[in-house]
Amino acid sequence: MDFRLSDEQILLRQTVREFAEAEIRPHVMAWDEAQQFPMDLLPKLAELGLTGVQFPEEYGGAGMSTVDYCICIEEIARVCPAIALSVAAHNGLCSAHIARFGNDEQKKKYLPRLVRGEVLGAWGLTEAGAGSDAAGMRTVATRQGACWVLNGAKTFITHGRIGGIMVVIAITDRTKGHRGISAFVVEHGTAGMSAGKKENKLGMRASDTSEVIFQNCRIPADQLLGDEGQGFINTLQVLDGGRIGIAALSVGLAQGAYEAARNYARERRQFGQPIAEFQAIQWKLADNATRIEAARLLTYRAAYLRDQGARTTRESSMAKLFASEAAVAAADDCVQIHGGYGFVKDYPAEKYFRDVKLLTIGEGTSEIQRLVIARQILNQ
Ligand SMILES: Cc1cc2nc3c(=O)[nH]c(=O)nc-3n(C[C@H](O)[C@H](O)[C@H](O)COP(=O)(O)OP(=O)(O)OC[C@H]3O[C@@H](n4cnc5c(N)ncnc54)[C@H](O)[C@@H]3O)c2cc1C
Repeated sequence: MDFRLSDEQILLRQTVREFAEAEIRPHVMAWDEAQQFPMDLLPKLAELGLTGVQFPEEYGGAGMSTVDYCICIEEIARVCPAIALSVAAHNGLCSAHIARFGNDEQKKKYLPRLVRGEVLGAWGLTEAGAGSDAAGMRTVATRQGACWVLNGAKTFITHGRIGGIMVVIAITDRTKGHRGISAFVVEHGTAGMSAGKKENKLGMRASDTSEVIFQNCRIPADQLLGDEGQGFINTLQVLDGGRIGIAALSVGLAQGAYEAARNYARERRQFGQPIAEFQAIQWKLADNATRIEAARLLTYRAAYLRDQGARTTRESSMAKLFASEAAVAAADDCVQIHGGYGFVKDYPAEKYFRDVKLLTIGEGTSEIQRLVIARQILNQ
């Protein structure tokens, strides 16, 4: 057993860290205020391979492993969790669904554009009435001759307004329950598809989130992604990977918050000494450092197993659950260690605190992760 990263992975971490410090850090608060994903960042992300981290080189991807992907997401999240969320949704949901379940034609048609960063990817599962119970969705796809016709609405979709390519999950046979659900690829601008309400969010504000509405949206039959009736089953496998990405995002956010707290504690003086010399502060830092290491190990282990071709439902959920809750604790302690300065926008603490809450909600809440883990360990 070797817990060390390879020389290439150490270099990858350093490269993405330098990129995030130079290209993202200076703009973090402006992008947060603007509540818009900075589209001019997309070509820069693409240049570094961050819009196609795990996809084969034949489609222009960087061909990296899941562990490498975690390193990338972690380093972006350390600086701006919202940008990391967008990169994760683009890579780990939309592109991953196409790469894993698309046929050769579909991969050739869509992946190069996603990988080159010409378009952002979106992935639509959630609906207003179907979040945790995603199979309770109402969006339908009806076969009419050589087309599928989509009707319904998807809620809380990352890049719902600005995504160029979207994977949509819809019911194709209501009588078959979750085996009557299928996935489709829909291109932005298709008649009958429109963006609904843009969400005004607590955090992750530089990552665009909105509703997407389908009204008699006709798409050619060859835009069915994977086999008919397999869409929900395939979605669960996509989420096994996506949750590793959210775990990595949580590790990165926690690391950023912990570093900000540690640096502040060394500088801030009260009662004639740096607050880092008070045991109460030291214990918070020690607890966070320990939780972050544990979260990172769970995350890399799930990633490693996925790279070996294993099914990681249990490991992905454990990593996501533990890492997201560790990140919530790190962000909370970061604000606490900053005192009043943690409550104002001059310091990074308040933004980590706002951003972090999404991590125990998105791609399955903590309660749903516990439910998945319990089913796995009880073999239900
Ligand atoms: C910023 C953001 C970005 C997102 N991006 C996307 C995206 O790109 N694509 C997409 O498809 N979705 C996306 N989502 C949706 C996200 O995945 C859902 O919000 C999430 O799955 C929870 O669903 P819900 O909001 O409907 O909450 P609900 O399912 O209504 O849950 C409400 C509460 O009830 C609890 N609960 C529900 N069922 C159970 C149960 N069986 N046992 C115990 N507790 C339960 C939940 O844990 C939660 O605490 C995004 C959400 C946000 C906020």
